[in-house]
Amino acid sequence: MYKIGTNRNGLSRELTDPLLRLHSPGDPNVKLVFTVMKLMNPGVNGTAVILDLKKLPKEEAEKLQRSFEEREYSSYTSSLIPLQRSLPDVRLQGCHTLYSDPNLPETSVIIVFYNEHWSVLLRTVHSIMDNTPPHLIKEVILVDDASTDEVLKEPLKEYVSRFSKVQIVRAESRQGLIRARMMGFEQSTAPVAVFMDAHCECFPGWLEPLVTRIAENQSIVATPNIHGVDPKNFKINEWGQGRRLGIPVLTFPNLLFSWSLMSERERKKRRRETDPVRSPAMVGCVIAVSRSWFKKLGMFDPGLEIWGGENAELSIKTWLCGGGLEIIPCSNVAHMYHPHRPSDENRIRYMRNLARVANVWLDKFKHFTDNYDGSLADYGDISDRIALRDSLKCHPFEFYLTHVNPDQVIPGDGIYTGAVRNAEMTTLCLDAGDRAQEGSNKVLLYSCHGQGNQRWELTEHHEIRVGGECLDSGSEPDVVWKACHGQSGNQEWHVVRLDEHVFLQSNGYCVGVTKDKSALVLEKCQKSKLQMWTWKQNRKPRMS
Ligand code: UDP
Ligand code: MN
Repeated sequence: MYKIGTNRNGLSRELTDPLLRLHSPGDPNVKLVFTVMKLMNPGVNGTAVILDLKKLPKEEAEKLQRSFEEREYSSYTSSLIPLQRSLPDVRLQGCHTLYSDPNLPETSVIIVFYNEHWSVLLRTVHSIMDNTPPHLIKEVILVDDASTDEVLKEPLKEYVSRFSKVQIVRAESRQGLIRARMMGFEQSTAPVAVFMDAHCECFPGWLEPLVTRIAENQSIVATPNIHGVDPKNFKINEWGQGRRLGIPVLTFPNLLFSWSLMSERERKKRRRETDPVRSPAMVGCVIAVSRSWFKKLGMFDPGLEIWGGENAELSIKTWLCGGGLEIIPCSNVAHMYHPHRPSDENRIRYMRNLARVANVWLDKFKHFTDNYDGSLADYGDISDRIALRDSLKCHPFEFYLTHVNPDQVIPGDGIYTGAVRNAEMTTLCLDAGDRAQEGSNKVLLYSCHGQGNQRWELTEHHEIRVGGECLDSGSEPDVVWKACHGQSGNQEWHVVRLDEHVFLQSNGYCVGVTKDKSALVLEKCQKSKLQMWTWKQNRKPRMS
């Protein structure tokens, strides 16, 4: 038999509220599910809840499938997991004794939601309450972005009335996550605000490191190390820590979000694994910021609609306007990354949001985001945002490239760019060939035209790129291209200048042309015109 809300690590009380799960615990179907699936403490300590469709009673299997289709995550599975569940303590060694200051400022946690599933939303709230010293939480503000799910109206209000610090703010009409967060912020009063998605679970000790860092330096926007909650089985997936910590970055031309690893430069600056990590960008699902800094930065751009772009905006402006952005390794929160199925309309809104951010902040680099999609022309009036930027006397975007993320790849803005022409056979150029043709990744010598497969560029990271591919010396004596991996090694090239020519050097070998002049070859470097190339320098390296 099963027991609901069993005590785990002393965190939970027996929960008897009938609304704890949308299934009534007495429901014979639920009893059956627990029995056939042999569920004892589903989800305890962040474990997965695996439901075998073939073994489930048919009606329940249908509910499970439907729940996944409706919400992009399995709310059915979630509702079998207690609202209070323990998570493992994933903190790095050294974290436990670092944060003992008894005088940290209070925090308001702001959670916006739009039709989040009851159990997922409330698990977020419980996890905050269970894993935060009460004196650090001034209030938790739930902002209902005009959800249509009835259970999130009166029943939610009734449920959270047990928590004296939890309030609900309701938007009259759908505002989108950016303006909804600002509604919550306006309502909040503590000196530190944490914006958190409505599908998160906090690990023990998550808040103290964030607030400590902000108390030290109020213009730092602090984010936790974000782990994953599996959208199907709700397993807590621990993500990289230490050397494997994921670093959010922006990609160009369109400011989309991506992951990278810590740069060598940053690694060398830090003394301990527990030290904050400077980060060029943020995921956006958990953000801690001081009230005064967030206000000074003009909060989020209220012209950003529905979803997306606000994390790029805040990342760029905190760096350019005299602050910073850091991941605090001792703070850990799990976020449910769920697949997005935005409508066409919302996809366009998202790109428009990004175009807005680009046009306010990127200076001459914005032209790399211009016109890659004609629908972006209409990004609204940005004069207020430009005025804000001027009044704060923020750095030009160049500062981001020289001081924040010198490794930033901006297509078209390499150090050397364009065709790479042989000095001996001046009509022939390096050519990535037919990249669609399977099995052939050799780089060829081909008549120069300087377009597409011949538009090479050298990045700060010493890659020689063409599109998303990189020149690779790993198949010596052949010269090949492979997907860029950002890990240097066979993709690290040194472009050595000699007179008006350059040598392309990797692992001590140079790119040359075979004696019969038919193909490229990696060979010992020598002073031969066959190893010399003409390649146009576009700009100076940002860091030497
Ligand atoms: N959200 C909202 N209104 C919207 C869209 C999203 O309140 O119009 C909420 C959503 O419920 C979630 C947060 O904003 O709590 C972030 O959205 P989501 O999780 O979809 O973004 P992701 O984490 O996938 O980037
Ligand atoms: Mn989210």
